[in-house]
Amino acid sequence: MAQRKPLVALLSGAGISTDSGIPDYRGPNGVWRRDPEAEKLSTYDVYMSDPEVRRRAWRTRRDSPAWNARPNAAHEAVVRLERAGVPVRVITQNVDGLHQLAGLTPRKVLELHGTAREVVCTKCSARGPMAEALERVVAGEEDPPCLACGGILKSATVMFGQRLDPRVLSEAVAIAKGCDVFVAVGTSLQVQPAASLAGLAAEHGARLVIINAEPTPYDPLATEVVRTPIGTALPALLDTLAKESTENA
Ligand code: ZN
Repeated sequence: MAQRKPLVALLSGAGISTDSGIPDYRGPNGVWRRDPEAEKLSTYDVYMSDPEVRRRAWRTRRDSPAWNARPNAAHEAVVRLERAGVPVRVITQNVDGLHQLAGLTPRKVLELHGTAREVVCTKCSARGPMAEALERVVAGEEDPPCLACGGILKSATVMFGQRLDPRVLSEAVAIAKGCDVFVAVGTSLQVQPAASLAGLAAEHGARLVIINAEPTPYDPLATEVVRTPIGTALPALLDTLAKESTENA
């Protein structure tokens, strides 16, 4: 009898990208929390009402070292799991697009906080590549407006004061409820509603594995808590899951 292959869900936070040189911007101890001026650039009401904040935000985006970041061993391990034929879904709190850049099928990735690799118009909702908007900034437009309607453009990330996309969130909830293994990696599980997905997965019978340097509020619910560095811990775990899946096939 053919058995259904177990569905592996991965919730990734800032910790999975630190090996790629991207700092934690929005976690409880993130860059933005420690630097109120930087946080303003990502606060929706301030961004919309203050042209100087927008000009500063565009300069910051233009000069961001994050554009040169490359996926690391942890991102690559997720791609190996997918290529081994294991059903996998990634729910990420990151906006860096590194899971997709590593080669994971884009539709397998749910970006809870949006993506920094696209822009969105705050008036007509038109989207486009961030790279094209940044070319306009480099060419001298300090606050490039939407080419379709002239509205204010922003990074397609969820700013402070904005709601998460309800469709993305409900899909994440469905994945958490339906998965067999739920791996929370590089997230302090302190930012809701993302954190509650780990609890939901455990409640619905998933094996919950937490890989994080610091303790999280969900550790007591976990089947396994791993404190070793993500760059070695995640590949070890996922390669084992891939092997188990192949053996049980
Ligand atoms: Zn527009």
